[in-house]
Parts: sequence; structure tokens; C-alpha cells
Amino acid sequence: MLKVLEDLLVLQEHDRRLADLRREMDDLPNRKAMAEERLSDQRRRVAEAEEARKKNAAAIKQIEIEIETLREQIGRLTRQQFEVKNNDQYRALQTEMAAHRDSIRALEDREIELMEEGEARRGEMERLKDALAEAEKEVAAQLDALERRAAVIREEWAKQESERAARASSVPAEWMARYERIMKHHRDRAIVPVENQACGGCHMKLPPQTIQDTRRAQAIVTCGFCGRLLYWKA
Ligand SMILES: [Zn+2]
Repeated sequence: MLKVLEDLLVLQEHDRRLADLRREMDDLPNRKAMAEERLSDQRRRVAEAEEARKKNAAAIKQIEIEIETLREQIGRLTRQQFEVKNNDQYRALQTEMAAHRDSIRALEDREIELMEEGEARRGEMERLKDALAEAEKEVAAQLDALERRAAVIREEWAKQESERAARASSVPAEWMARYERIMKHHRDRAIVPVENQACGGCHMKLPPQTIQDTRRAQAIVTCGFCGRLLYWKA
């Protein structure tokens, strides 16, 4: 293989590696955001559960106030019984007190329901808090791993760049320019092997002469369809 082609192939490997590293580096903020989003989801669920628990506690408190008010009213009605002038008034007070007692019973039933619900909510809350603590640990580890990965990428990037620069210095400027031009146009590869009598880049079937020239490797051969440089893979 021609020396220049050999150099360009190595260069291309560096460029491909650099492109991979760039893609991965560009994707790191997304991965970080996804990890953080998972955490904020869990935090929101804990906050919602906390809110529901507070509402439940407030509803219980409200019922207790209503029961207390009804009890005070019953107490007042009981005292009024001693001051009534006739049976009708007495019966009216009795009826009113009975109605209040019914209301109290209904409120107490409701209170028990709310307390049971509150118990379930506390359990749910505990579960969510445990899940959040777990998620916080996991996400912290994920973010840590992403940080470490970023450092590795930066290190690898510097290594690839300096190796590429060293290799580029031994490629004649005109070939370097041609390589860069093809790379910029096709973005994936500028130098491709002949595969099954076709160009390894655009996959068009190559004329026998082109294949022969590539195989002889005495000059650089170009694919007539896409312009990529061809080489023969032994
Ligand atoms: Zn081609």
C-alpha cells in the first residue's frame, strides 16, 4: 500500500475515534439530565404524598372540631331541658339532641375512615421516601460515573488528537487537503476498501480497471461515483 494511503488510513481511524468521542461527549448532558429528571420525578411523588397526608390530617382535625361543637350544643340543650315549660318543648329539645348525636356518630365513622386512610398514606409515604433515598444514591453514583467518563473522554481525546497531528505531519499537504475535503463531504470515511467489486463507501459496482488499479496500488485510485479514495484489503 502507498505510504500516503497508509498514513491517511491511520489518520482516518483517529478521526473516526474522535468523532465517536465527540458524539459521546455531546450526549453526556442528556444522560445527566435524564438521571436528574428521574430524581425530580421521585421528589415530586414524595411531595404529593406529603400534601395528601397533610390534607388527611387537616380533615381529621376539622371533624374533631365539628364533633366538639356538637357536644357543646348537646351540653347546652341538656341544661335547657331544666328550664322548659311544657312537654312539647322538652320533646323538641330531645329531638334536636338526638339529631346531634346522629351527626356525631356519622362524623366519628368518617373520622375512622380518614384515620385508616392516613395510616395507609403514612405507609405509602415511608415507601416513597425509601425509594427516593435509594434513587438519590443511584443517581449520585450515575452522575459520578458520567463525570469519570467525561474525564476519560477528555484524556482519550487529547491522546487521539496528538497522535493524529503527528501522523498528519507526515502526509503531504495536497493529500491532506484532499482527505479533509472528502471527509467533510461524506462525514463518515474518506478512504474505503473495495468490497465485492464495489466501493466500500457508496457500494456502487466498480469498473474492472478501477479494481485492478486499486489492487496494483501504484497510485491512489478514486471511486468514480462518490470520490472516496480506494484501497485493496489483502
Ligand atoms: Zn464510492
